[in-house]
Amino acid sequence: MREWLRLMSWARQDWKGLVPAAVAAVMTVFSHAGLLAAGAYLLSLAALQPPIGALSAAVAAVRFFGLSRAVCRYLERWSAHRVTFDLLAKLRVKYYQRLEQAPAKAVSAVNGALLERLTGDVEVLQYFYLRVLLPAVVAGAALLGIWLFLGQFSQGLPLAVTLFFLLTGLGLPALLRRLEQPHEEQIQEKREQFCAVLTDALAGMTEIHAGSRQTVWRERLVRAGGELAAAQEQRFRLAGLQDAGCGFLTQAAISAVLVLAAAGVRGGEIRGVHLAMLVLAVWSMFEAAQPLSHIFGHSRETLAAAGRLFGSGEDVRPASGMKSGHWQPSSVETGHSRLLVKDLTVRYQEAGQNALEQVSLDLPPGRKLAVVGSSGAGKSTLLSVLLGLWPYQEGSATLDGLELSEWDPDRLCSHFSVVTQDTYLFAASLRDNILLARPRASEAELAAAVSLASLDGLVARLPRGLDTVPGQNGRTLSGGERQRVAIARAYLKAAPVWLLDEPTNGLDAATAAAIMHSILTLAGDKTVLMATHRLVETKLMDEILVLDGGRVAEKGNFQSLTATGGLFGRLWRLEQDRLQ
Ligand code: ADP
Repeated sequence: MREWLRLMSWARQDWKGLVPAAVAAVMTVFSHAGLLAAGAYLLSLAALQPPIGALSAAVAAVRFFGLSRAVCRYLERWSAHRVTFDLLAKLRVKYYQRLEQAPAKAVSAVNGALLERLTGDVEVLQYFYLRVLLPAVVAGAALLGIWLFLGQFSQGLPLAVTLFFLLTGLGLPALLRRLEQPHEEQIQEKREQFCAVLTDALAGMTEIHAGSRQTVWRERLVRAGGELAAAQEQRFRLAGLQDAGCGFLTQAAISAVLVLAAAGVRGGEIRGVHLAMLVLAVWSMFEAAQPLSHIFGHSRETLAAAGRLFGSGEDVRPASGMKSGHWQPSSVETGHSRLLVKDLTVRYQEAGQNALEQVSLDLPPGRKLAVVGSSGAGKSTLLSVLLGLWPYQEGSATLDGLELSEWDPDRLCSHFSVVTQDTYLFAASLRDNILLARPRASEAELAAAVSLASLDGLVARLPRGLDTVPGQNGRTLSGGERQRVAIARAYLKAAPVWLLDEPTNGLDAATAAAIMHSILTLAGDKTVLMATHRLVETKLMDEILVLDGGRVAEKGNFQSLTATGGLFGRLWRLEQDRLQ
């Protein structure tokens, strides 16, 4: 029901486009009926060989309805599709914005399913206007037309036609609806599974080749595609049954009209010359009943799509969001920000284990803090929370005294320069990829960022320098070069706090050391919080926070932590042994 209301409110926004579309659709049906009725009347009248002048009104009516049908049909298609595609475009943007509010959750969703929602589900919503709302309006108008037109000839005719009209448009589809419902759910489930397998296969193409798993994946794809096709086949079988039923009921209605009207002619109630006109007018009016018969199917499909779209929009509740009119500190301008975390607890699933538990830290301006711990200790989670990407359940995390959840997401992010372990490069030029951090940066600032991030060697080598497109996700760049692009972005952004999530992950020791050197030089006196599992990189940090299973196990600087025989000391010795 909520989805209905939402879709209706969407429709209301564009009522100025929908009303002309509905008027044109109604006029098309009436013009079609008028053309067939006038044509039939003309032929019947001509058969009686009246003077030519007696035919002129019928001839004019045929011409008029012939033209108006074509014009109205064109206007209907044009206006209905225009308003629908307009609405769909707005919906896509709206859904994307909702995802943007909680990117961490969006990223953790199955990519294929997400893509299917953004494309498939939004596409399905066009049915709501084109195949649910409009047909309902047109069918209502057609029924009214049937009553007004046939009522002039006989009382029984409109009753009989209405009965068949409702049976065709509502009775039969309602009967088949129950049979179709399980297939609809199954189709959607199978479609999402197919998309997920396909996206996975495309993303992991290298691994599939390297592991010679092509046959296994091909079979997996064929199986998922086959299951989807099987589910669709069942539904199409029922749709075929429905079409056949509609055709049968339409013919039954025409036969009933013929029998009743013929009886009327015999009884002198109806003139013989009107008989063919009545039959053909009713036949054409059933054009409006047939789309009505698909309303149940389409409305179920659109409501399910709306549920998934709007529903998923709801569950990507933003982790941060400014209350209107809320005061926002402006330390980004002063370049000094203080991050204070107290007893922070984060859970990914309601009943699941805590990813972070009672974590506290203080990061005054200029402090360099390393967060270390083995894989799964909670380092990335901490960074996601600080960036406002993930909500926290207990405790507090403030930036300049204001709780992160109170911050406007954009303003919060403007305080952070971020370098993650796997920098994403868009399918755009290197220049645009770096300028992402500050689109209005001058050429001189850009050149400084490129040079300070030691990217000038790469730029000189590239065929079109900074204007080279390094392929989707920087396919033509090495891991180290991609990290340097991230460093250039971070430098250009000039935010007061640098958040680094394992920036040297996957790089060889020499490249990692060079990257760390660049980062710490460029960060200068900025505040730095760096998650890492390379303990050697923590030597230059003011403080180290050791996480274990989401809890703070130890705190101190490099010297104090290696001097004690705690977790950090043990991990450090392990790292040293590995390097020898
Ligand atoms: P680290 O960065 O130290 O390797 P993470 O912060 O990524 O650790 O993960 C901490 C814990 O939270 C791990 O147990 C991990 O499995 C879990 N986790 C991380 N991301 C998600 C997620 N999106 N959904 C559910 N659990 C998650």
